[in-house]
Amino acid sequence: TIGMIALGADGKLAGSCTTSGLAFKMHGRVGDSPIIGAGLYVDDEVGAATATGLGESIIRICGSFLIVELMRQGRSPQEACEEAVRRLIAKNAKDIKDIQAGFLAINKDGEYGAFAVQKGFTFARHQSQGKDLLQAGYKM
Ligand code: ASP
Repeated sequence: TIGMIALGADGKLAGSCTTSGLAFKMHGRVGDSPIIGAGLYVDDEVGAATATGLGESIIRICGSFLIVELMRQGRSPQEACEEAVRRLIAKNAKDIKDIQAGFLAINKDGEYGAFAVQKGFTFARHQSQGKDLLQAGYKM
């Protein structure tokens, strides 16, 4: 998945999400990426979130919608991503060692966060000052 979330100079939020799908997937499977609220959610009044990883685990918690709603209630993007990962782990406890899922979030103020079930979740940040690669993950 490539998920992108952005805050424009005009203060508007935007997001997009693509997926190559899951390897060896069942014919007809729909992952999280095309489902608004699972792989991507943008609310221009609050923030935006996107997800990557095992779509079934992300759909189960409505991951991106959940993160935006947590931000609406006052959580920072980082706190919201961490809470989503905690819920995902709780809902998928049986298989969690085989699951990677990660989230990115940004709010109206341009604060961002990222978190993933496993270590090794790399994401790119592009700001007016420049761009860099960052890592996030539960077992960093
Ligand atoms: N989230 C995608 C899916 O489950 C897989 C990916 O991260 O590319 O379809």
